[in-house]
Amino acid sequence: MSERLQQSIEERYKSVLAQIPAGVKLVAVSKFHPVSLIKEVYDAGQRVFGESRVKELLDKERCLPDDIQWHFIGHLQTNKVRQIIGKTALIESVDSERLLILIDEESRKKGIVTDVLLQLHVALEETKFGMSEDELIDFLASGKYEVLSNVRLRGLMTMATNTEDMDRVKKDFATASRVFRKVKEQYKDSLPLWDTLSMGMSGDWPLAVEEGANTIRIGSSIFGEREY
Ligand SMILES: *Cc1c(COP(=O)(O)O)cnc(C)c1O
Repeated sequence: MSERLQQSIEERYKSVLAQIPAGVKLVAVSKFHPVSLIKEVYDAGQRVFGESRVKELLDKERCLPDDIQWHFIGHLQTNKVRQIIGKTALIESVDSERLLILIDEESRKKGIVTDVLLQLHVALEETKFGMSEDELIDFLASGKYEVLSNVRLRGLMTMATNTEDMDRVKKDFATASRVFRKVKEQYKDSLPLWDTLSMGMSGDWPLAVEEGANTIRIGSSIFGEREY
C-alpha cells in the first residue's frame, strides 16, 4: 500500500467548489454513483445533484433528504415523463417541442409548474441530443411556448463536442452563449425568467465559464470515474 493519502470525496468536492467563481451554480452529477457517496457530498453542503436516468433519480430521491434539488440531465423518453414530473427542480435536457408539450401536460395534471432548459445541439457528433440553433429559434418564433402555462423556460443546456481540441470546445460554448443571449434580448417580455446557461463538465468547465456559463455540471472531478 502506498502511504499517499487518497483524497476523500469531501476534499474533492471542496477543491472543485473553491475553483468555481461566485455566481456559477454547481450541479454535482451523481449518475451511476451510490447513495452513500451522494450523502457525503450532501453532508459537505451540496444541495443540487444531476441524474441522467429516470429510474435512478427516483430510486435515489426516495432515500435522500427532501431538500435536494434534482436536475434531470439525460435524454428523457416521452413514456417516462409522467414519473418524473414533480421530482425535479430543473429538467435541463428538453430536446424537442414534443417533449416540452408533454412535460407541460403532465405538469398541468399534477397542478404544478416545471422549470426546464432547452437542450441546444452544437457539438459535431450526431449522437448528442438537442435542438439545432435553427430549430430552437424557429420554435420560439412560432410563439407556441406561450400557451404552455405549466412549464417555465429558464434557458439553455448544451454539451460541447467530445474532443481534445479545445478551440472546438470553446467555439461550441461561444455558439451556445450567443444563442442564449440573443433569446434573452429578443424575448425579454415573454421569457422574463430566461436566466440559466448550463454548460461545462469536469474536463471543460473553465472554458464554459469563460464563455458565460452560469451553471456547470460536474461528475467525475467530484465522485471519481463512473463504472458503467
Ligand atoms: C455525465 C454528464 C455530465 C458530467 O460529466 P463529467 O465529465 O463526469 O463531469 C455533465 N453533463 C451531462 C449532460 C452528463 O450526462
